[in-house]
Amino acid sequence: MRDPRYDILFEPVQIGPLTTRNRFFQVPHCSGMGHRYPEADLAMRSMKAEGGWGVISTQETEIHPSSDLSPSNQGRIWDDRDLPRLRKMTETLHKKGSLAAIQLVHNGIHTANRLSRIAPYGPSDVVVDVTDPVQARAMDKADIAAFRKWHRDAALRAKKAGFDIIYVYAGHDMTLLQHFLLKRYNSRSDEYGGSFENRLRLFREVLADTRDAVGDSCAVAVRFAVEELLGPAGLEHTGEGRDVVAALADEPDLWDVNLSNWSNDSQTARFSQEGYQEDYVSFVKSLTTKPVVGVGRYTSPDSMVRAIRKGILDLIGAARPSIADPFLPKKIEEGRIDDIRECIGCNICVASDNTCVPLRCTQNPSIGEEWRKGWHPEVIPSLGKPQSVLVVGGGPAGLEAARALAQRGAEVVVAEASQQWGGRVSHESKLPGLATWARVSDWRMSQLRQATNAELYLDSPLTADDIIAYQFQKVVLATGATWRTDGVGRVHRLPLPFLPSDAVVGVDDLLQKGAGAISKSGRVVIFDDDHYYMASAFAEMLVSAGYKVAFVTPSPIVAPWTEHTLEQARIQQRLMELDVEIIPLYQLAGFEGGELTLECVYSGATKRLECATLVPVTSRLPSDHLWQELQSREAQWADNGIEAVTRVGDCKAPGTIAAAVYDGHSYAQNLLAAPSDNYDRYR
Ligand code: ADP
Ligand code: SF4
Repeated sequence: MRDPRYDILFEPVQIGPLTTRNRFFQVPHCSGMGHRYPEADLAMRSMKAEGGWGVISTQETEIHPSSDLSPSNQGRIWDDRDLPRLRKMTETLHKKGSLAAIQLVHNGIHTANRLSRIAPYGPSDVVVDVTDPVQARAMDKADIAAFRKWHRDAALRAKKAGFDIIYVYAGHDMTLLQHFLLKRYNSRSDEYGGSFENRLRLFREVLADTRDAVGDSCAVAVRFAVEELLGPAGLEHTGEGRDVVAALADEPDLWDVNLSNWSNDSQTARFSQEGYQEDYVSFVKSLTTKPVVGVGRYTSPDSMVRAIRKGILDLIGAARPSIADPFLPKKIEEGRIDDIRECIGCNICVASDNTCVPLRCTQNPSIGEEWRKGWHPEVIPSLGKPQSVLVVGGGPAGLEAARALAQRGAEVVVAEASQQWGGRVSHESKLPGLATWARVSDWRMSQLRQATNAELYLDSPLTADDIIAYQFQKVVLATGATWRTDGVGRVHRLPLPFLPSDAVVGVDDLLQKGAGAISKSGRVVIFDDDHYYMASAFAEMLVSAGYKVAFVTPSPIVAPWTEHTLEQARIQQRLMELDVEIIPLYQLAGFEGGELTLECVYSGATKRLECATLVPVTSRLPSDHLWQELQSREAQWADNGIEAVTRVGDCKAPGTIAAAVYDGHSYAQNLLAAPSDNYDRYR
C-alpha cells in the first residue's frame, strides 16, 4: 500500500492540452542507441512506461543532417523515413499509459557533421566545440529561415509520429538556440545579435513556430539551462538565465530547467548531493504559471515530495534514477520503498553514451539489454526445477548472481570470507565522495535478506575442499581481484625490479586500512596508470590525512577515463585546489635512496622526486586460485554432485563494478540455458 505522504507524487498534472498521470517525468536522456539501435531504444523506454513514468522522453533528436552527431547514436527525425520507428515508440508508450515527448535538436556549433559533411551552422564564424579542426559558418538570413523551417517541419513530423510533448531545446551548451543566446558565441550585428532581446529572438521565434505548427494538440516544452556555472562569463540564474524565463514566461506549456553544460547537469555523487540543482532553478516557478520540471538525481520519495511542497518543481524529472530503476514510480505507488534500486551517481551510463554504445548501468544490469537479451529489470523467469547454488564471494558479482538466482527460485548459499558484505564496494564507498556506492551491496543485501531461499554467511573463507564437500549442484566463484604492487599496467608491461617493498603501499592495503596503511612520514607518490577514479580518490584521502602528495601519471591529464563520466575537469581542479603536485607524462624508471626516478614518456628525459611511500595504481590480478584448484580437481565433481563451476566478475577479468554486476546477473539469467549474447541483434 502506498504511503499517503507520497500521494502528491501521483497527482495528474496538466501540460498544455494534455494531462500526465503522475508527476514522474523521464526527461530526455541519451541512450547510446538512438537511430542506430531503435528497437533497443524502444524496448528500454517502454520498460519505463511499464514502470510508471508519466512522461517518457526521447533523447535529443537531430532535426536535419546539418546537425549530425555521428558517430554518436542520437535520435533522428531528418525526414519522413524516420517516422515508422518513431511512431512505434509513441504507440508503445501510449499503450502503457505514458505521454511521449521528443527533444528536437539542432546542435549548431556542437557538431562537426562528420557523416553529412555539411559545414556546421552557428550564430557567428566560430570554431566548433568538438575536437575536429572544423569551423562553423555564420548563418545568414536565408540560413535562419531554413533552420526555422527545418525545426517547424520536424515538429510537424513529430506530431504525425504521435508525440504528445514537443521540446524546443536550448541547453547543455549543445544547441543552436543556446548558441545564439550566448554572448561568447554570438557576435552578430543584425537583429539576431547584440542586445539580450536580439540574442533571444531566434529562440522566441522557434518557440512560436512550434506552437503554431503543433500547439493545437501537442504540448510545447522548453528545455533551458538557467545557469552555466561560469560566473559572469556565462549565463547566470541571477542574470540572463532569469531574464529568459521572465521574457518567455507563459509561452511554453512546460519549463524543463537545468544546468549547462552536461557535466554540470549530470554531476556525479562525488561532486553533488541529491537535489543539487534546486538552488539554481527554484526561481522559475515564480515567473511562470506553467508547470516546471527539473532534475537532481532524485531517488528518495521524501526528497521528491519536499521539492514539490516547497514550490520548486511540479514534476520530478529523472534520467539516471530512471535508468537505475525503471520501476521507481511503481515501487513508490505500491509502498515498496526498500525495493527501489537507487542510482549511485557514478555516470557509467553517461560513459556508455560517450563511447557510442548502448546504456550500461552499475545498478541495473538489464538496461540496454531489454531488446537484445529480452531482460526485464524486475522479472526473471523461474528456473522451474530445484537447483542448489553455492556463491563464493559477497562482492558486486556474487551478490547480484545470488540475488537473481534467489529470484529465480534456486536454493542459494552465499559465503563471504570477510566480516562485511560488498567486496570492493565496502571499501571503495569509504573513499571521499563515494558513499553512495554502498548502495550496490545495500540493495542486493536487502533483497537477499527478504528471500526465504537464500542463506548468507560472513566470515566464511572457503577452500576447494570445503566446496567439493558441500555438494552443491552449481558453484559460482566471485572471489574478486587484487591490485598489483609491482607497477605492471599499461605503460609498464613487465614488473619493475627496482621497487623497494618497504616503500610500496598497495591499493588493497590503502582501501582496507585507509591512510593508516602508510607508516612513513614524508611525501606519498601516487603513480596512476589506471586512469579512472581510484588514484585521485586516494590523493584526496591522503591530503586530508595530512600527507604531502604527488600524482605521477603517463597520461597528459589526471584520470583521463573520467572524461567519459564527465568528472575529469572537476577531479583535476580538486587535486589542484588540494595542492597535490601533478606530474603528467612520466613513467617510473628507478627508486634509490628515497628518490624516485621519473622518465618522460615522450623524450625519455629523467628527473628525481623525493618519495617516502609509493602507491602504484596500475592494474589487478584475478583472485582465481580457487578456480584453478577446482579446475584441476574436475574429476571429483560428479561424485560430489557438482555439475558446474563458473567464475564471474573480477575473478574472471577485473573491470568496473558495473561489469561485475552484469556478469553476475548474466550467470543467473543463463543458469539453465546456453549463454547467448545475441550479437546478431545489433547487426
Ligand atoms: P567482484 O567485483 O567480482 O564482485 P569483489 O572483489 O568486490 O569482486 O568481491 C570478491 C569477494 O569475494 C570479496 O569480498 C572477498 O572477501 C570474497 N572472497 C574471496 N575469496 C573468497 C573465498 N575463498 N571464500 C569466500 N569469500 C571469498
Ligand atoms: Fe546511476 Fe551509475 Fe546507473 Fe548511471 S550508471 S544510472 S549514475 S547507477
